[in-house]
Amino acid sequence: MSNINLLACRNNIEEAFKSLIQSGRPDIRDEENNDLIPQLYVDLFENNYILRQALDENHIIFKGRKGTGKSTVFLQAENMLKQNKNKLSVYINLQSCYEEIRVSNIDTQEELTRYNIYYNFFNEILTTIKKNISKIIPDKKLDKLFEEIHDGEYIDADFLRNMQVTTNAENSNSVSLNYSKAKEAPSELHASLTKDKKIQSETKHESREIRILSINKILTKLKEILSKHRINKVYLFLDDFSELNFNHQKLVIDSLISPIITSYNDMFVIKLAAYPYRIYLGNIDSSKIIPHSLDFYDVFEKTSTNYTKVEDSAINYVKRTLEKRITVYTHNQIQLNELFDTDKNKLDEYFKTLFFASAGIPRCLGYVLTYCFLGSINQGDPITISNINNAAKKYYTDNILPDFFNDVRFKQSFYDDKKILNQLAQKNLMEQLINISKKFKRMQIESYSKKENIKQIYSDTLRKYKVSTTYWLPSSHFFVDKDIESILHTLELYFIVNKFNEGSSRKPGKKISYFGLNYGLCLENNIDYGKPEFRRSYDYWRQDEFDYTDIIPQILSNVELPICQNCGYEYKDDLEYEMVKKFNRCLKCGEEGTVHAVNNFEELFKEKIESWKKISLPDLYINILRILYNNRPNKLSAHEIALEIDKHHLAITNAMKKLKPLGYVSYNITDKRYYCIEEIAISKFFTTN
Ligand SMILES: [Zn+2]
Repeated sequence: MSNINLLACRNNIEEAFKSLIQSGRPDIRDEENNDLIPQLYVDLFENNYILRQALDENHIIFKGRKGTGKSTVFLQAENMLKQNKNKLSVYINLQSCYEEIRVSNIDTQEELTRYNIYYNFFNEILTTIKKNISKIIPDKKLDKLFEEIHDGEYIDADFLRNMQVTTNAENSNSVSLNYSKAKEAPSELHASLTKDKKIQSETKHESREIRILSINKILTKLKEILSKHRINKVYLFLDDFSELNFNHQKLVIDSLISPIITSYNDMFVIKLAAYPYRIYLGNIDSSKIIPHSLDFYDVFEKTSTNYTKVEDSAINYVKRTLEKRITVYTHNQIQLNELFDTDKNKLDEYFKTLFFASAGIPRCLGYVLTYCFLGSINQGDPITISNINNAAKKYYTDNILPDFFNDVRFKQSFYDDKKILNQLAQKNLMEQLINISKKFKRMQIESYSKKENIKQIYSDTLRKYKVSTTYWLPSSHFFVDKDIESILHTLELYFIVNKFNEGSSRKPGKKISYFGLNYGLCLENNIDYGKPEFRRSYDYWRQDEFDYTDIIPQILSNVELPICQNCGYEYKDDLEYEMVKKFNRCLKCGEEGTVHAVNNFEELFKEKIESWKKISLPDLYINILRILYNNRPNKLSAHEIALEIDKHHLAITNAMKKLKPLGYVSYNITDKRYYCIEEIAISKFFTTN
């Protein structure tokens, strides 16, 4: 039953969906080249609360995972500020600044010391500030000031000394894989059980403050110049802070943010965007830079008294976001309910499923809907739940999983031996969580079929939700003591798990945090998602079977496996290993002193890590390859790639000049170059193992 109206609007609907993937890009425009952000902006709260935090005169941090809309808030704030002649806004993508110096480094083949990189990186930031200001306020004095900076007039004396004495040697030291260092990985995992571990886990970082220039002198001069033009506030929107490694975050804090926050210079306002848990703030007094979260649990628990309300608010946000896009892109030609097959399911059911599939994150929502489009609206059919489920699966297998696996292995900025081992431990944790969930359902059904005693809440669920011979018993969610929730931060950042709620534990005075596995991951692994809907079903996730407080730390520390060097027997059973230690003898072959603990990952992946290291590439290159991979078999222009990864199209074209000779990409020329990924790159970077 093709729907005429859907067919008539389908191109616009597709654009609306795709625009969600690109939200946060400076160039979302309609066919008349109008900036659409002002019309498309949807705030998490009533009365544009989040936006108002970006516009007030306090220093703030927006914390949110990728795609939660940090950049969109910044863009909207910039739009508003443009209407005020006394205020200036400067947008700085910190990751781009960093990539810029990396890429130019590859061009010149010049070997850089750490201090050179710091210096170039900071200069890149200042150059961005200068470009932004002189666009609005052309003033010779401004040019002069930046010429002086460029000539080294404001460089910090200590820093200059460091830069001169440091030789290139320090770079070559860190290239070979240092296994004595990697051995510390397990202790790091233990350390990660305590709070505040993130910073300690970084190894060779600077302990002193990194001050590159006398930034206060520069800012005072800048203030003088700008005041003459009646500018009284300059907003510095600093985006993608967490994409920087520890030392570069520290540099931005020590050299720019901290001086501004602690000085009496009231002209500059800092608005920082970062991922949660990947933020170094140094000694900055946390009351001076106010955090605001953009992830649904943190956002909505503030205004909600219970989980149902958190979920309702998040679902409502998904609905408002989609509604706004559809209205703007189809010029009000289509209603939200026409997009979904409401004969099969209620409209609310669709929004709830979309919330599960996207965790309330606009960019994820965009991907899921874009993947839905081809099998539904493109043919004039409204979207069904099974369309959404297929799309969620595809989004998980094509985007989330490769992101999780590839970042540490192939991106140079993430590169660090300990991080690789840590990430391997995280991947193992994910696999174990999947196994536990699957095993739970299997065991319960087995007992239930044998008429053995199982908990009533499970037997009720099995009975109520059985469809022909298929049982439904969700095991997608679990909880841990809130004290140790930080051990899930890495999986959370990669969307493998999402935090859903907090509650009180049965242990007195303790709180627990509820997490859910990724929706697409559950579909892919046949794990039933959600919880049953009947009386007292709110108790479902609270069952002891879903208490992973002990299991997760155990999985993480189990990367050490005792093996007999003589017969190769692996001691997976703790009791057996206790016996071995007692008698110092292998229980299998009887040899004395042959059983030693081995770091699983270190041994297993030794060769792989070396080979990953050989083919690692700058982050930009990996991102380009991923976009091409995800869009197979379509070919993309530099402009289209740039849109998806937030870069100028010339940066893409330049990168292609390096990728082409490596055989990773090829192109056709029609009106311009259209690129596609080559088989060799797919097998190197995108095959999972
Ligand atoms: Zn043995």
